[in-house]
Amino acid sequence: MQQAIVTPGDKLCVEEEFMPYTGAYVENGIIRSLIVGRPVYDIINRKVYVKPARNVRVPRNGDILLGVVEQMRDEIAMIRFIGYDINKPLKHEFRGVLHISQAAETRIQSLYDVIRLSDVVRVRVLNNYIPFVVTMKDARLGVIAAYCSRCGAPLVKEKDVLKCRVCGNTEMRKLAPDYIFLF
Ligand SMILES: [Zn+2]
Repeated sequence: MQQAIVTPGDKLCVEEEFMPYTGAYVENGIIRSLIVGRPVYDIINRKVYVKPARNVRVPRNGDILLGVVEQMRDEIAMIRFIGYDINKPLKHEFRGVLHISQAAETRIQSLYDVIRLSDVVRVRVLNNYIPFVVTMKDARLGVIAAYCSRCGAPLVKEKDVLKCRVCGNTEMRKLAPDYIFLF
């Protein structure tokens, strides 16, 4: 059976079950992964180790990724990365944190001024470890697809605003230059 991929910080087990071996560490009684790989549980020796995964592309500083706004508040949003390209989805799940200070080139009052839940955004990664931190501070970065906050229909770009053809609602975002209309 193929074990699921784990990423740094993922919980593998508790200390009472297995001792951490290569690629794993213990923190407050919890054994966690130090690397990206597949966990191997050695039941006989009661050891757990993580075999480094090949062919797993881990986001790196400078990478430009597409993601979906999964959770958000006024000052912080969680972006689930979906891929480097709309046609090349990621095989493994990684997330990035977007802070209001990194959301736009200009000062904004709230993240809701530039993104909303379920929007598809293009972001750039700013570090090499989990939690990944991302930015939208670049003219190429921003929302590439969005849905109406009122009725959920896809929004269409009309001049500088987004318009819902179903309910007539208009909304603002920080748009990437290549905003697309996604169903
Ligand atoms: Zn609508």
